[in-house]
Amino acid sequence: MPVPVVLFTSDLRLHDHPPLRAALEAADAVIPLFVRDDAVAAAGFAAPNRGAFLADCLADLDASLRERGGRLVVRSGDLVEEVCRVAGEAGADEVRMAAAHSRFATRREERLRRALEREGRRLLVHDAVTVAVPPGEVTPSSSDHFAVFTPYYRQWARAPLRAAVAAPRRVRVPDAVMGEPLPARGEVTGVSPALPAGGESEGRRRMTAYWRHGLDTYADTRDDLAADATSRLSAHLHFGTLSPVELVHRARRHGGPGAEALVRQLAWRDFHRQVLAARPGAARADYRTRHDRWRTGRTAEADIEAWKEGRTGYPVIDAAMRQLRHEGWMHNRARLLAASFLTKTLYVDWRVGAAHFLYWLVDGDVANNQLNWQWVAGTGTDTRPNRVLNPVTQARRYDPDGAYVRRWVPELEGVGAPAVHEPWKLPGPDRAALDYPDPVVGLAEGLERFRRARGRKDRP
Ligand SMILES: Cc1cc2nc3c(=O)[nH]c(=O)nc-3n(C[C@H](O)[C@H](O)[C@H](O)COP(=O)(O)OP(=O)(O)OC[C@H]3O[C@@H](n4cnc5c(N)ncnc54)[C@H](O)[C@@H]3O)c2cc1C
Repeated sequence: MPVPVVLFTSDLRLHDHPPLRAALEAADAVIPLFVRDDAVAAAGFAAPNRGAFLADCLADLDASLRERGGRLVVRSGDLVEEVCRVAGEAGADEVRMAAAHSRFATRREERLRRALEREGRRLLVHDAVTVAVPPGEVTPSSSDHFAVFTPYYRQWARAPLRAAVAAPRRVRVPDAVMGEPLPARGEVTGVSPALPAGGESEGRRRMTAYWRHGLDTYADTRDDLAADATSRLSAHLHFGTLSPVELVHRARRHGGPGAEALVRQLAWRDFHRQVLAARPGAARADYRTRHDRWRTGRTAEADIEAWKEGRTGYPVIDAAMRQLRHEGWMHNRARLLAASFLTKTLYVDWRVGAAHFLYWLVDGDVANNQLNWQWVAGTGTDTRPNRVLNPVTQARRYDPDGAYVRRWVPELEGVGAPAVHEPWKLPGPDRAALDYPDPVVGLAEGLERFRRARGRKDRP
């Protein structure tokens, strides 16, 4: 009997894994394969934090397969060539994988399909593995995708969800197909000091703990910067160590306002994917141009450096940017503030910020990162593209005691709230005692510059 290949990509789990399940129903052995694709690094998607997290994910997946009698086969090189090679060695007639939605992924999938077909093998692609509701499944009557979240969410919430499938009990992997040694987390350099651990076991542990201790209060606490009370499941969703379908089912079963609010955020994830699937160019180009002429030149470069290093003089922005480097993760409210500050107050191209985030974020992914950046910059799907978040009023609202700021900006350790959010207003000697920079730009000045830029008359 031919042995199918199951190609793992952004779905590094055994629970709720339809391609693996389907392969095991059709055959008594499979080749679970992961290819460390050279093209990922060449396209600039590889970054130390995600490399380290990925190493954890592969080690955990291999261990879970071994518990069930199998193992993970890891290869590296060109993904299409490696999959064809493994399929040849195994005598496979089919390869199964999860659908993905970026241009990079869909082109790669097409190349793979053609290469396998040339050898007389089939590629079977499963939907609803990396998303809950696949792109294209809910669409408005007048377009191929939704450009506004609220009507999308209404339809998304009514869309049928496939049932979650159990993890297999046994996985037999033939000895003939050999893999390479697994990459080790310790081999990756430049990793954030507080990067969380990856892997499905860790993801499931986190999910269970959150369901017990965080979900019920999620709706009330999700914007509280210091409480740090969001699920922190984003990296697990990015690497697919948790299934979005399973999370939606579990949240709906749990019920209540917290679970409902979490499901809504998971719908945002699908929303951005359906935008990207329909408009793959939005990974790089404005989804809706505002004819911006973003700042460039020496002073803009100096502002960008200050923003990256967390020394803009706006404590909440600096806290956010330092958290990003230290943990490889940033709170959603902080991401909104940091992105609004760069694109609107500093009037710097969203692509500059998106690239920096993509380098550091362990959950960094093209759909969520680029389209959230565009949303904040007003070039994406926000229906109020010119709104500007004021970092001081937002900090007062979402970090009223200043605990988030003091956690990440030790220079302000001794300053109480609300002064901690505006240290430049401290009396002379108190201000002078702080080793903390003055604001890179006044808020009124930044706002005026942005409004002028967006309202200018000389549009092409
Ligand atoms: C400028 C900017 C860049 C971002 N870049 C990324 C990115 O690269 N990768 C990423 O996963 N998220 C990104 N987000 C969305 C969001 O900030 C993170 O998903 C969230 O902070 C992750 O923390 P959590 O898992 O505790 O989220 P929770 O609040 O617990 O939410 C649960 C899950 O819902 C999804 N989700 C939540 N908010 C959003 C959102 N606004 N858009 C899409 N999905 C969402 C995530 O998968 C998240 O894990 C970005 C947001 C902004 C404003």
